[in-house]
Amino acid sequence: MQPTELPTEALQPQAEPKIAAQPAAESKPAQAPAKTSANKSTKKPPLVSREHKAQDTRIQIGQLEIGGDQFITMAGPCSVESCEQIHETALIVKEFGGHMLRGGCFKPRTNPYSFQGLGYQGLDYMQQAGQSARLPIITEVMDREDVHKVALQADVLQIGARNMQNFALLKEVGKTTRPILLKRGLMSSLDELLGAAEYILAHGNQQVMLCERGIRTFETATRNTLDLSAVPLLKQMTHLPIIIDPSHAVGKRDLVLPMAKAAKAVGAHGIIVEVHPDPDKALSDAEQQLNFEQYQQMMGELYR
Ligand code: PEP
Ligand code: MN
Repeated sequence: MQPTELPTEALQPQAEPKIAAQPAAESKPAQAPAKTSANKSTKKPPLVSREHKAQDTRIQIGQLEIGGDQFITMAGPCSVESCEQIHETALIVKEFGGHMLRGGCFKPRTNPYSFQGLGYQGLDYMQQAGQSARLPIITEVMDREDVHKVALQADVLQIGARNMQNFALLKEVGKTTRPILLKRGLMSSLDELLGAAEYILAHGNQQVMLCERGIRTFETATRNTLDLSAVPLLKQMTHLPIIIDPSHAVGKRDLVLPMAKAAKAVGAHGIIVEVHPDPDKALSDAEQQLNFEQYQQMMGELYR
């Protein structure tokens, strides 16, 4: 039997190394069986697929459930900049109905001279802010070596768009017990996103959320182009929860609200948005962060 005779499901990772949950094609049987559709392939469906698990994955974080009926909002600054900034934001995020506090401590910046984040100091501030506002926290991890240390303090680990195919990092977060928010790469297809998620599941961690955050197209009027059709399509392909990041998709704060509403309308399980006490003075992504008033308005329109 040729190992190329695999099912044509869209999810098959392409030419990636074999992983534990994906056993290699069967060795040649002593007696070649007749070719029927029943035995054409004995390969297991990918762990991310609906074939493997029909019912939606629901992720429980304390009292919060993601992937169920509730549309959830994660909000907070692009970067944790100071103790005051993250505390102030956390209280506002909570007051107007947010479910989780976001904030970057290790920042993936295009320019090496740009603000790189406060690192573990920022994570300490954020953990305290989350505790005082009674919000779970989500932060990005960029380095394999930081994974387990960050997981001690963060409720959810974010894998950023630029690291979507950092396979060593994916394997490492696959060994943790924290839920993972996996962001789609700037130039990645949905198959590649699912292939990346498969790495995490195959290494043990079944709690993965997928995040559409805009992809690069020829359009330059927005920072990226939000691929909203990814939501209904991914919901057919996978049981994992789908989160939309309108902030990084559009790159302009005035466009965040309509796209957040669109995310809800197309059936996403939630959004992750950037909010800052004084966006114009933000140390990263100044143009796209909502001020508190805009955040309040967005929450009012999403949840009224
Ligand atoms: C972020 O969430 O701050 C971030 C850097 O996002 P992305 O990886 O989608 O660019
Ligand atoms: Mn950002």
